[in-house]
Amino acid sequence: MPVLSTRITSINGGGSDGWDVFNRARAMIAAGIDVTELTIGEHDIRTDPAILNAMHASALNGHTGYAAVPGTNALRDAVATRLTRQTGVATNRDNVLITPGGQAALFAAHVAACSAGDTALFVDPFYATYPGSIRAAGAIPQAITTRARDRFLPQRDALALAAIGAASLLINTPNNPTGTVYPRETLDDIATVVRDHDLWLISDEVYDTQVWDGSHISPRALPRMAERTLVIGSMSKSHAMTGSRLGWIVAPEAVITPLIDLATNTTYGVPGYIQDAALFALEQGSTLEEAVAAPFRRRRMLAQQILGAQSVVGQIPSQGAMYVMLDIRATALSGESFANALLDTHHIAVMPGESFGASAAGHVRVALTVADDALAQALGTLCEFAAERATAR
Ligand code: PMP
Repeated sequence: MPVLSTRITSINGGGSDGWDVFNRARAMIAAGIDVTELTIGEHDIRTDPAILNAMHASALNGHTGYAAVPGTNALRDAVATRLTRQTGVATNRDNVLITPGGQAALFAAHVAACSAGDTALFVDPFYATYPGSIRAAGAIPQAITTRARDRFLPQRDALALAAIGAASLLINTPNNPTGTVYPRETLDDIATVVRDHDLWLISDEVYDTQVWDGSHISPRALPRMAERTLVIGSMSKSHAMTGSRLGWIVAPEAVITPLIDLATNTTYGVPGYIQDAALFALEQGSTLEEAVAAPFRRRRMLAQQILGAQSVVGQIPSQGAMYVMLDIRATALSGESFANALLDTHHIAVMPGESFGASAAGHVRVALTVADDALAQALGTLCEFAAERATAR
């Protein structure tokens, strides 16, 4: 067999891809074991039938041929309107590229921002695919570490140091895996650094409808930031449409135009009936979004109550997204050992913090994606397990 490209063989960076506990949990479930699955950011509800009806009607009406590569005008307009409302920055369809999910948008954004071999910064802890997406785009990922005591928010000095010679910075608010929502001060620091060092800012905002405390601020809204910010959005989390693969990039027209060339030569767009379903969903305003967010809002309160009643497991204050990040350092176990042991002894699957980067060592991420009573029971067991391990030290 001929040799595969280094581009493709290096996507995972050589080490574990961080999904070991998840894969073990899936294998146990396949073997018939009852596992409480708190690993992945997948809703426990399905796409609203009204959205599926719109999808079906569109397909029956014949929107099954090649769709416009940048996205339909109507959907690009709807996304532009959404961004104008969120940011106050005039946004029109020429600022929007529709992509097959936020994941494809992350890849495309880095292709636009980075030449081969450029340094692309991202904040650790991070959504598991970030370094791989950057490598797949031909750039070199470089993590900016953060600390639990700073709620994993990037600090200005670390940002400024890393920015020297870099091409782009990727941020994510509301954040997966930490559940933090970047405050205005953090975003101001980020904006200052990327302007001073002439970087692109890639802003992953796929959890923008899931904010429990404070409010979501898009850096596109900050002074002189629209010209250097690529906003990543998606219908996956906001409308429980993970399987429909519908996302977008909002950026200056001078960025979107060449990104359309990339789409023409890679994805060739997104199915028209999926786009029509997304348009229908966005036209419903916040009603559907709030219905999708409500269980996570409720379960995050529940988690705070359960965790607040004990003192072994710490919690990073969660303000958004469908996760809580727990500090299990009192057990002296790594996040990975803790997650593996919890899976083996109690059939509860959580993600090791280390799966999201070295900064989250000694932590585990819990997805709030099971029914309230199952979540309460699992968190209670997790806390008891942590207490046993802490006293056994
Ligand atoms: N960004 C973050 C932070 C995510 O958590 C996810 C999915 N878990 C994505 C992007 C990609 O989502 P999708 O491709 O489904 O839009």
